[in-house]
Amino acid sequence: KAKAQRRNSYKIFDVKMHTQAVNRLTIETDIRKAIEREEFVIYYQPIVDILGDGQSKAGRLIGFEALLRWQHPTRGLVLPKEFVSIAEETGLIVQIDRWMLYKACQHLADWKVKFATHFPIKVNINLSVQDIRQGNLIEYIDQILAQIGLEGDCITLEITESMLIENISQTIDLLSQLKSRKIKISIDDFGTGYSSLNYLHRLPADNLKIDRSFVSQMQQGNRNYQVVSTIIALSNQLGLAVVAEGIETPQQLQWLQELGCEFGQGYLFSKPLSHQTVEALLTTSKILHYIL
Ligand code: C2E
Ligand code: MG
Ligand code: MG
Ligand code: MG
Repeated sequence: KAKAQRRNSYKIFDVKMHTQAVNRLTIETDIRKAIEREEFVIYYQPIVDILGDGQSKAGRLIGFEALLRWQHPTRGLVLPKEFVSIAEETGLIVQIDRWMLYKACQHLADWKVKFATHFPIKVNINLSVQDIRQGNLIEYIDQILAQIGLEGDCITLEITESMLIENISQTIDLLSQLKSRKIKISIDDFGTGYSSLNYLHRLPADNLKIDRSFVSQMQQGNRNYQVVSTIIALSNQLGLAVVAEGIETPQQLQWLQELGCEFGQGYLFSKPLSHQTVEALLTTSKILHYIL
């Protein structure tokens, strides 16, 4: 009986693997079509100054993180977790991310004209490891900034810890080139990757983003609270700004403020917003200041 059962489960496993492979192929084909048909859209999530200083009160909008969404003809709005890893494995992410870079810069330049009095507003854009491996990222960025007429200092590129360890000296070189264009660098999902303490001080980074998993599981004095506290202390030590991701509750916000975290992002302030919603909120100025 056991043997029969085992044989059966192999069969199920095979079928499952086959289904998965077919699914992936379908998604891959769909992604290629989506690029051609321009089905991707950008959602923007506000990043907020949660500490403030003498001049500016806490709650001020600093900018947005640009987040990829797929406006699928039949599936509706699809989130990155459904397709980004397949786009990465197939290398299609490079084309998508270049589109993101171009489009986000275009939106920002457009807002700068429409909402000049609200500026500076900055935009953060996520990169994948393939974007860095591809030789001509710098040339591409130079080209779009020149074409659109934007300065490098209004964009931040987000890279993850795991992208750094692969080829540290090449990456440092690339980051230095970005820095000389005044483009800011953010280390995303900090704390989840390979410990980067060895080379963190060598990186031309400007800020760290504390991963949502630590923030969401913070309790007074628990391990996650200690990790968050340590990352903030480390950032201060290294002269890096720090952004907390995934702030959902007033209690989390209060703890982060007490620990000296400067910037925050999360559903407590706002979910990622469509381009149209951002424009509507900028028009009424309703998004420029959050009451903390
Ligand atoms: P990420 O860069 O760490 O982005 C933050 C994610 O956390 C976003 O998920 C955002 O919607 C979500 N988030 C923010 N605040 C909260 C909160 O308070 N609660 C909860 N539950 N979630 C929150 P999203 O948009 O689904 O993106 C997931 C990941 O996909 C991103 O993580 C990033 O790694 C990747 N990604 C997104 N857009 C792009 C892109 O244009 N290019 C590349 N290469 N990767 C992207
Ligand atoms: Mg990010
Ligand atoms: Mg992140
Ligand atoms: Mg994250």
